[in-house]
Amino acid sequence: MTTHLPVADTRTVRKYVGTLARRHPRMLYGALALHVAAAVAGLAAPRLLGGLVESVEQGTTTDHVDTIIGLLAVFLVAQTVLTRFARYLSQVLGEQVLAELREDFVDNTLALPVGVVEDAGSGDLLTRTSRDVDQLGWSVRMALPEWTIAVVTAVLTFVAAITVGWWVALPCLLGVPPLVIGLRWYLKRAKDGYLRESATYSQINATLTETVEGARTVEALGLGERRVRASDDDIHKSYLAERYTLYLRTVFFPNMEIAYLIPTVATLLFGGYLYTQGQVSLGAVTAATLYVQMLIDPVDRIVSILDELQLGAASLARLLGVAQVPDDREVSGREPTGEQIAADDVRFSYVEGRDVLHGVDLDVGVGERIAMVGPSGAGKSTLGRLLAGIHPPRTGSVTVGGVGLTELPLDDLRGHVALVTQEHHVFVGSVRENLVLARPGSSDDQVREALDAVDALDWVEALPEGLDTEVGSGGRAVTAAQAQQIALARLVLADPHTLVLDEATSLIDPRAARHLERSLAAVLEGRTVIAIAHRLFSAHDADRVAVVEDGRIAELGSHDELVEAGGSYAALWDSWHGRSST
Ligand code: ADP
Repeated sequence: MTTHLPVADTRTVRKYVGTLARRHPRMLYGALALHVAAAVAGLAAPRLLGGLVESVEQGTTTDHVDTIIGLLAVFLVAQTVLTRFARYLSQVLGEQVLAELREDFVDNTLALPVGVVEDAGSGDLLTRTSRDVDQLGWSVRMALPEWTIAVVTAVLTFVAAITVGWWVALPCLLGVPPLVIGLRWYLKRAKDGYLRESATYSQINATLTETVEGARTVEALGLGERRVRASDDDIHKSYLAERYTLYLRTVFFPNMEIAYLIPTVATLLFGGYLYTQGQVSLGAVTAATLYVQMLIDPVDRIVSILDELQLGAASLARLLGVAQVPDDREVSGREPTGEQIAADDVRFSYVEGRDVLHGVDLDVGVGERIAMVGPSGAGKSTLGRLLAGIHPPRTGSVTVGGVGLTELPLDDLRGHVALVTQEHHVFVGSVRENLVLARPGSSDDQVREALDAVDALDWVEALPEGLDTEVGSGGRAVTAAQAQQIALARLVLADPHTLVLDEATSLIDPRAARHLERSLAAVLEGRTVIAIAHRLFSAHDADRVAVVEDGRIAELGSHDELVEAGGSYAALWDSWHGRSST
């Protein structure tokens, strides 16, 4: 069962881009101003050349020509220098924005309800963190600045062309219809066409990999012919898909070329006509034609980058969608009045309409040890997760000191109750950082105390850099038992009054387990413990045993009471005891 994470709509994306832009007004306007200046410097040439043509017509001196060439060189150098700084500033801005986007995304991802991550998690979330972030990175770093520059240049060039004379607007307008029609025609078909093309590549790969991996089977069953045919089929489909996109390009590109050339030619013809009528000077026609020709490059870039920007916007929509997952925790601001954990008529479902807990009541005494036993799939782990405040119940309540666990901010919740599982992740960072994340701001002494409590101080201090030793992936390797100790020390530091224990030590090898058992015992000392017991002998030591069957607490009482009562616990105990004594 997978749920998909939402995708933000266009309005949200626009609004977000707006906020991002407004966060750095100085850099944004600085970069824009530089781009404008660079574009303006580039616009001097046609004017100067126009003047040159005109002066040649009227008779000129070599000095005059030299001056104009000198001026051209100055503007060229100015444009180069300005462009360099404009690009530099845009890149810095791009990186800055990208970093903020990533931070926002990480925040949003970390705020996702655990249940959502588990359901949609690996596939969708990973694609978003990798592919969409990459795509967006490309858009923000390259496409967006290039596009902005192209737009600025195009607008300014057009304005410059108009200043030569209003008549220039007419030939420019002639280029618009083929441009718009061609673009719409292409964009409507291109996305699907290219998607299909890449899908056929994946298909070729899939078939080929399958054939190679199953080579023995293929040979044994004489499937060779059929596999070859399957590959031929895939290649044929790919050929057709490529032909289609090629067809799109063979229509689109010439169409664009024509759309670009029409204005230039029209300017020349129209300008020439006006010149023969004595309406405009030869210099003006020269400048106008050069400007209109200069428009081609930025317009072409605007068009070709549009595609990339669309992809970037789609990725951004997917990244922002993560923030739209409704939170399943609602901080109420109420303070717990005690340490007592209570479940009241709790029902819960992972999949709508299929409850796995059917009305569970459980009052846990402060300092009490409760063991949960029962057949696998009965709902023990689920109940444990609810008692640790990871999921909210569908109906009913799970409270600490009268306040719902999911009403507490996460940081507060961890000070009340924590879930201990056999998943013990060592994060990349120093040993200290690994512990302190349980309680930010802890002193080194507190960290040492926590390590000492779980019997881990000795080996940590023996590490080359002690608390500063880097562990986690890429850092110093720690054993599974050491990782578990780090996780336990984290708990000591967080210091919750209640622990929910799920198979805490069952995966550790027996020798390490005995050692860990001591560490664990130290952590459990003085706390309320709800243990999901997979070995009955720990149930024997508990204050009370809860037998979970089919999403309900079927039996609840001390070991002796339950054995006395002769229910399913008694039967379990009998068979286990009987087996262990033979
Ligand atoms: P136990 O810990 O007693 O073995 P669980 O609490 O793990 O039982 O499971 C109770 C029921 O909930 C089972 O039917 C299981 O298939 C179902 N379940 C557990 N986790 C999920 C999940 N993430 N999504 C959907 N169903 C789940």
